[in-house]
Amino acid sequence: MSKYVFVTGGVLSGLGKGITTSSIGLLLKSRGIKVTVIKIDPYLNCDAGTMNPYQHGEVFVLEDGSELDLDFGNYERFLDLDLTGEHNITTGKVYLKVIERERRGDYLGQTVQIIPHVTDEIKQSITTVAERSGAEVTIVELGGTVGDIESMPFLEAVRQLQQERGSAHCAFVHTTLVPILGPVGEQKTKPTQQSVREIRAIGIQPDIIIGRSEEPLKEHIKEKIALFCSVPVEAVISSPTAQLVYQVPLTFEEQSLTELLMEKLRLAPLAEDLTAWRAFLDHALHPQHELTVALVGKYTELADSYLSYTEALIHAGAELRTAVNIKWIEAEEFAPDLLEDVAGVIVPGGFGERGTKGKLQAIRLARERGLPFLGICLGFQLAVVEFARNVLGYKQANSTEIDPQANPAVIDLLPEQRGVKEKGGTMRLGASPVLLEPGSLAHRLYGREEVSERHRHRYEVNPEFVAELEAGGLRFSGRSPDGRMEIGELPGHPFFIASQFHPEFKSRPTRPHPLFLGFLKACRARGSS
Ligand code: GLN
Repeated sequence: MSKYVFVTGGVLSGLGKGITTSSIGLLLKSRGIKVTVIKIDPYLNCDAGTMNPYQHGEVFVLEDGSELDLDFGNYERFLDLDLTGEHNITTGKVYLKVIERERRGDYLGQTVQIIPHVTDEIKQSITTVAERSGAEVTIVELGGTVGDIESMPFLEAVRQLQQERGSAHCAFVHTTLVPILGPVGEQKTKPTQQSVREIRAIGIQPDIIIGRSEEPLKEHIKEKIALFCSVPVEAVISSPTAQLVYQVPLTFEEQSLTELLMEKLRLAPLAEDLTAWRAFLDHALHPQHELTVALVGKYTELADSYLSYTEALIHAGAELRTAVNIKWIEAEEFAPDLLEDVAGVIVPGGFGERGTKGKLQAIRLARERGLPFLGICLGFQLAVVEFARNVLGYKQANSTEIDPQANPAVIDLLPEQRGVKEKGGTMRLGASPVLLEPGSLAHRLYGREEVSERHRHRYEVNPEFVAELEAGGLRFSGRSPDGRMEIGELPGHPFFIASQFHPEFKSRPTRPHPLFLGFLKACRARGSS
């Protein structure tokens, strides 16, 4: 039976609970323990697929096509795991199941209530996933903040779970904020005290308290928190602001968080192996080169909207010992001179018409000036539109997503998308194979002829125009087994490649993605030429 670490959050959101959860996972894994992660999101959406990235950050896509919150990206990057959609439990999913059961008559004669029906459903969702994964330890991140109405049923369910399983099977880690106030920069413990009081009122006593603050917690502050919150002083852990999120596990390790958890869960102690992680961090923190790439997008005011891009650049940059600065360019405000000082251009995925003009301009400049270019999803589709317009001379070429009357419609709805009305989980989603043309740039970068990549789109290159686009010089070097265009590249250009799929979702710290790596190498070559 799996044991559990529950990670809760107090005071306010945005304390990096996802990073804490991921870090704990990595640390336990580094001791040879098989771990998995579950995320609880107390919102009523069934998944994050229909949420605006501006509000919620990027939508992360898993192998199985689930569209989830960006924390899943952190879990997969830290733990080097491929998770599935059932690792995300939302209020929407739980209620949907309970209501379906009620309609089926499963609760015939009963009054259906939050306790026990909803809490039972939550416990069952958690334990089923944990057992199915075969993990020795399942780390469950409870989204939201303790005290929110929405998180109550989940906290109650995990309280019951501890009651049923016993305390050696469950550990509670509570993350809080320790603000610094006043002229002498005093670290304040009151918000922590209050949020711990709140979680104790629900019947949960944290075993470990993680205090987020700008600076490491002072010893007497740790002592004060320990006293007021009924934990040993060693169980108060500092989580100071880090330059890179990937440093957080090491900060925890230095404070013996792993030993504390292993002791609490009665796990046999094994020596730590974080060699690869430390090597990656060493490269990322001590670069020998530096370069700047432009990212021309439409949610650039919220960097979280493009989190996996940022991380993929950090991973590939570390491998090349290169610090990568991102110049965020809002596509609607695009101007050619904005590309003067960059070594390469990325046009990321996106939806709808807004900003496409600027993106098309950026792609044209990258193509004409020989500036390294990486286009992803919408960025790939727009690269095809740009090529059709300015190389083939079809001035009206477009995607029917942008102009439903487009003629020629070089990008058009996927045939199976016609007639699809519902918006939740209905795109072409998840991992599928891509066959690479021998001798192409794509093939050289991957070093393989078949790869598997994750998708999230409704439109594709219109097969009617493939021959003409290729005759004009655009090479479709990656295709799906059923003949869809997956990668486009421009032979003769120093580096111009674009993919219908999302490589950023598969980049891992110690395994950077070949497309990002190739792109940065080309950027570096340009810088030194
Ligand atoms: N909007 C485009 C489509 O649906 C691209 C999607 C994306 O960039 N994720 O096909």
